[in-house]
Amino acid sequence: PVDRSPEIQEARLKLPILAEEQVIMEAINENPIVIICGETGSGKTTQVPQFLYEAGYASSDGTIGITEPRRVAAVSMSQRVAKEMNLSNRVVSYQIRYEGNVTDETQIKFMTDGVLLKEIQKDFLLSKYKVVIIDEAHERSMYTDILIGLLSRIVPLREKKGLPLKLIIMSATLRVEDFTNNKKLFSVTPPVIQVDARQFPVTVHFNKKTPLDDYSGECFRKVCKIHRMLPSGGILVFLTGQAEVHSLCRRLRKAFPFQKTNTAGGDDDKEESVEEMRKFKKSRRQKKVMALPKIDLDNYSVVPVDEGDEDRDAETDDDMAGSDIDLDLGDGDSEEDEKSDSSLPLYVLPLYSLLAPEKQAKVFRLPPPGTRLCVVATNVAETSLTIPGIKYVVDCGKVKKRFYDKITGVSSFRITWISQASANQRAGRAGRTEPGHCYRLYSSAVFMDFEKFSAPEITKRPVEDLILQMKALNIEKVINFPFPTPPPTEALAAAEELLIALGALKEPPMTGRLKQQLAAKLSCPISPLGRIMATFPVAPRYAKMLALSRQHDCLPYTITIVSAMTVRELFEELDRPAVSEEEAAELKGKKARFLQMQRIWAGQGPMQKLGDLMVMLGAVGACEYAGCTRKFCEGNGLRYKAMLEIRRLRGQLTTAVNSVCTDAGLFVDPKMKPPTEAQATYLRQIVLAGLGDHVARRIQAEELLDDKWKNAYKTALLEDPVFIHPSSVLFKQLPEFVVYQEIVETTKLYMKGVSAVEPE
Ligand code: ADP
Ligand code: MG
Repeated sequence: PVDRSPEIQEARLKLPILAEEQVIMEAINENPIVIICGETGSGKTTQVPQFLYEAGYASSDGTIGITEPRRVAAVSMSQRVAKEMNLSNRVVSYQIRYEGNVTDETQIKFMTDGVLLKEIQKDFLLSKYKVVIIDEAHERSMYTDILIGLLSRIVPLREKKGLPLKLIIMSATLRVEDFTNNKKLFSVTPPVIQVDARQFPVTVHFNKKTPLDDYSGECFRKVCKIHRMLPSGGILVFLTGQAEVHSLCRRLRKAFPFQKTNTAGGDDDKEESVEEMRKFKKSRRQKKVMALPKIDLDNYSVVPVDEGDEDRDAETDDDMAGSDIDLDLGDGDSEEDEKSDSSLPLYVLPLYSLLAPEKQAKVFRLPPPGTRLCVVATNVAETSLTIPGIKYVVDCGKVKKRFYDKITGVSSFRITWISQASANQRAGRAGRTEPGHCYRLYSSAVFMDFEKFSAPEITKRPVEDLILQMKALNIEKVINFPFPTPPPTEALAAAEELLIALGALKEPPMTGRLKQQLAAKLSCPISPLGRIMATFPVAPRYAKMLALSRQHDCLPYTITIVSAMTVRELFEELDRPAVSEEEAAELKGKKARFLQMQRIWAGQGPMQKLGDLMVMLGAVGACEYAGCTRKFCEGNGLRYKAMLEIRRLRGQLTTAVNSVCTDAGLFVDPKMKPPTEAQATYLRQIVLAGLGDHVARRIQAEELLDDKWKNAYKTALLEDPVFIHPSSVLFKQLPEFVVYQEIVETTKLYMKGVSAVEPE
């Protein structure tokens, strides 16, 4: 019996999935595996665990587990469900990589997909679960795909043991053929339950012209127009990255300042003058706020291309009275929008995955009275979180993604067009509570050129970490694994070769081409070293470094360096374009301070040769010494959230190392001394052992055939010149041999995380 509050009861009854409770529970009772499809916001994530709980699926000896591809969702959904059920977070809990609040009493457990994969390694049958729900399966994250493959085998095994496990796969789209039309995966096709979401119609407005690059500016102008001219209702803007999100937030706050109280500082604007107040009243009187057109509530329309708004020509003006109102706001700019207008307060909130959880949670609360909510988000708002009260969506049509070269692993962040499926998901965010509007900042012709769906992650990135995890599960012939969509063979082969080189897999007992051929068959078993490496929750290259660090008391340093390399993005982006002169000056000051600190962190003597890795070590050391405070981080160009994550990962790796070598007796020392000269030298060897395939040699003067090779390095894998990234402390020194953490392609191929090494 669940004791829900009346408000929660009422809100629940509005969710479309509630009408399907019986159908869903019957399907689950009668089938080991069930697929549930329903639009974002229909109630899958919050309600299905409750249905199961009420039907008695959770007990003292069996938990309901739910996996999410994003940490944000795991945390916020566990809190929401606990609240809805009026249960404590000791019972409805979460576990993500670095933290969790799971207890002995936990009966509903939200976790990231990576966490469940680790649990399968400890207990292949997942005996403590009665039900496993794989949520957001449409996102096709790599771990979600693998989990589905593994669970397709675990479910029958549990059946045989007489301890049946239920598997529920939930997806926001109906595109589930990779799961249903895949006999290798599920020999009996699982039933698919479709939840008919009551989605209100969303009118889609395409731009006539597609802005070439300034989509942020176009977003700004569109939000201004919506806010000035259209009736109340929240605005959700989709941009591609954190820097863009912040800069748009700042511009919007400037244009439509909102003051909490006279004293609540922090917001960008000064007090309004009486004069401004008078102007406001006047402008309010002049402005005619448009009413929304009547729209058929049974019909959710993503306007077909040929009926788009492109032929309409409505520059919205004050004379928009009448019944046939056109909400197409037109493209293009108008100077007037930039002017600050404090009469129309806009409550602007950023939302992206690296944002602190307490700031993320703000989007779920009601905006202050008299203001309009405007959430400026990255892709996280596309499906995992439902923001209440959104009526207008502004979609730039782009997404920032990391692309990897299948063989070399070279990665680049690219901003690309989204898929049609994503665009429709984004549009759908506008129609949750009432009819809405989606403004696409691209033309319908451009939309027609989008790919239909985005490719599953597993087909797009290196898979060495995945392969090591699978081998640790004694899946030797990876190629036979029931992947929903298999990764490309060349990616599998590259992973197998790397793992052999790292000593994580047993080398085939021959040499040369035959050996390569065998590796290409992808059937090498895991080695004892590989088993140890697989227990560390980091990439295999870094796991190797940890496994090698016992001598010379190097472990605490390796753990710190590996944590920093794993968390990534330690340093604040100070080269970002500023939106105002004040900000430009602030950034300049911060940058100068950071460069100074970077020199200090880089150390002296042999330490300096560790290069960027020494900077990471020094930065983490200094930050911990200062108590890891927000203030220290902000004052020294460090990202506070990254530093907290590094702290947690250090703790986790320290525990993992202690359990492998029981005599190590390690602990996380907040006052860690810098390494000695001998240790620094040894650390470079450790780093080289992990990054052995990431060595680069500077081009010698006599090899300099072409100017493009000036200051360049040559690597084993790439034809093209690579360079030390300008942010590296070794940028000017140009050591003869270096190892790098990764190569990122921007205008050139740049090495990041660089250390100097000596030739043997
Ligand atoms: P789905 O998983 O199908 O996308 P959810 O179960 O996540 O749907 O959401 C169902 C409803 O619960 C949504 O309408 C959303 O507004 C509401 N909701 C979810 N999380 C919160 C929260 N933290 N605060 C308030 N409402 C929430
Ligand atoms: Mg959901």
